[in-house]
Amino acid sequence: MPMNNLPRPRLLIIAPHQSYRIAPYIGAAEQLGCDITIASAGEHSLISVINKGLHIDFSDQQQALSDILAAAVNTPFQAVFGTDDMSVALAAQVAKALGLVHNPPEAAILARRKDHARTCLQAAGVAVPPHQRIELGDSIPVQLEALDYPCVLKPLAMSGSRGVIRVDDIDTAQLAVNRIMSILREVEVADEANAILAESFIEGDEVAYEGILSGGELTTLALFDKPDPLNGPFFEETYYISPSRLSDTLQQQIKQTVADACKAYGLQQGPVHAELRIDKNNKVWVMEVAARTIGGECARLVELVTGQALEKLVLAQLLGIELPKIEFAGGAGVLMIPIPRAGILRRIEGISAARAVPGVKELLISVRDGHELVPLPEGSSYLGFIYAVADSAAEAESALRQAHRHLKIVTAPLFKLAPVSS
Ligand code: ADP
Repeated sequence: MPMNNLPRPRLLIIAPHQSYRIAPYIGAAEQLGCDITIASAGEHSLISVINKGLHIDFSDQQQALSDILAAAVNTPFQAVFGTDDMSVALAAQVAKALGLVHNPPEAAILARRKDHARTCLQAAGVAVPPHQRIELGDSIPVQLEALDYPCVLKPLAMSGSRGVIRVDDIDTAQLAVNRIMSILREVEVADEANAILAESFIEGDEVAYEGILSGGELTTLALFDKPDPLNGPFFEETYYISPSRLSDTLQQQIKQTVADACKAYGLQQGPVHAELRIDKNNKVWVMEVAARTIGGECARLVELVTGQALEKLVLAQLLGIELPKIEFAGGAGVLMIPIPRAGILRRIEGISAARAVPGVKELLISVRDGHELVPLPEGSSYLGFIYAVADSAAEAESALRQAHRHLKIVTAPLFKLAPVSS
């Protein structure tokens, strides 16, 4: 019991097994003085300090929902939160059933499926690329013939730019479809495994937007410029730099576009992550608006810019706790270290020199020597991250570029041995 004799609020966090997002949320809950229960697919308590882990089966959402509701009878929750694309819809259903603040479950599901999301936003008048589904069970050449090029082909429900390929004509489109089809072999949901989304290629600068909704009202946490051109054929994320150097008018337009998209989905509350493009006529196009936080280690960048951990901001909003605003006057950025080529990582040279660049705050390497490096469109991981803080956005960007130039990524070719037939 805390000093004021009020019971500590208890929060339910629904997270996929082994999600890297769990640990920061546990830390944030601790700092905000609330208890948490983690619902996940683990058989036992997920983390030793949490002795009340709740085991659920993500493949049976109805069962998962009733298991959680049964647990809530003995352990009431004041708020429910889903950490990833996979768990936000279930969290919304649980919160709805318990009468807690929630997004409509349909909205959370919608934001995850690129074809449904595009259709919904288009109907609401939000600018999204003209798009259509390619049904893999029908004649593919006939469907590719009907497309306007250049266009972008992508899976219906993946993330991190996996399987996203720009194509300029029918021949490259056919090759791209073959590549995406082999990535889709791992997809279990039939509808998602049997179609690809094709959409017009929108040329322009790209930004990433991070915000939080409260009762339908959107607050901006950070807006990041992506200073390297993203023209494809693959779309590897590299630099995110804040504050944005776009004009105030454009920044306002970006926020309004994200707010319009949230309204169209019916999202009311919680984190919002969006990617948008600005074309040469300064028209703002939605690439993605999702009911979750930014992925990967990039959440740390939000902390550099807002002075508060992103996870803490998210949980505070859910629990109705006001956090002090911390003004940040400088520039900050992250480089998601690109994978230079496919192969086996031998070593990374120049790490100390990169860390010593003025402005570089942290350099994290996420892979080990011996790991297989798989670039996009098949791959899904980053080599690592470099963070910089400086007096301005331009200086933060230049520190990151300088640090990156110090890195030498040494790889060896990967030879896959075919089994010998006797
Ligand atoms: P994911 O959800 O896997 O990140 P997205 O659909 O957001 O996939 O696409 C990833 C990136 O690919 C975008 O951030 C953008 O740079 C590029 N991209 C995707 N679709 C288009 C498009 N229609 N026009 C231009 N670029 C696109």
